Parts: sequence; structure tokens; C-alpha cells
Amino acid sequence: MSYDVNNIFARILRQEIPCKKVFEDEKVLAFHDINPKAPLHILIIPKGDYTHFHDFHSRADAETVAHFYKKVTEIAEQFDLKESGYRVIANCGINGGQEVAHYHLHLLGGGKLGAMIGK
Ligand code: AMP
Repeated sequence: MSYDVNNIFARILRQEIPCKKVFEDEKVLAFHDINPKAPLHILIIPKGDYTHFHDFHSRADAETVAHFYKKVTEIAEQFDLKESGYRVIANCGINGGQEVAHYHLHLLGGGKLGAMIGK
């Protein structure tokens, strides 16, 4: 799967469409999911042109990967999720149910979450 520069998250990164931003630095952007599946549902994306989890971990250098996950934990703490707990999900590819082809991690919390995999 080649990277589509016009996917919705690429357009958010270019500020062509708005987002409810919660964090940004030179490598990472995080914003509220437009259709939340939990009381708190944040999407965390690297700024590089990675299509999905597998692509990110295949091509990104170790510093970029480490930085990304450090920010995930910091954002979880920003929203007081460390003690209460939370879930992170990366849908990857067709069978993973991925809809937007720019790597993103779902950060879900703010209440007891349901079953991990629905039908
Ligand atoms: P996935 O199925 O893992 O690719 O998840 C894509 C997610 O992006 C879904 O949870 C959508 O609700 C979310 N989404 C789609 N468009 C937007 C948008 N413009 N702003 C924020 N979240 C979005």
C-alpha cells in the first residue's frame, strides 16, 4: 500500500481541515477522534508518511519510534489515564479494519471499556 498524500490525516497535518488538537510537537500530533468510541478517544499520529503500524515499525528509525510512544504515555498522563487505565489500538490494513491510511494509535479511556473485539 503506497502512501496517499490526500488521506484525511495528511490533510489535518497540512491544516487543510481542522482538528481538536491535544498535543503537537515536531514529530507527533494528537487530536480527538471525530466519532468517539469511549468517553475519551484520542488519535495519536506520527508526522511522517507511514501508512500503518507495520509500515511505521518497518521504516521509522528507533528514535522516532521511541519518541512516538513516549508521547503516547505522556498524553495518557495529561488526561489522568495512568491510574484509571486505558486501551491503545492500532488497526492495521484491510483485515485490521483500518479506515484512514496514515498510521494512528487510538487512545481510549475515561470509563470502563467494553469487550476488546466486537463482531
Ligand atoms: P481506523 O478505523 O483505525 O482507521 O480509525 C480511523 C478513525 O479516524 C475513526 O475512529 C474515525 O472516527 C476517525 N476520523 C475520521 N475522520 C476524522 C477527522 N476528520 N477528525 C478526527 N477523527 C477522524
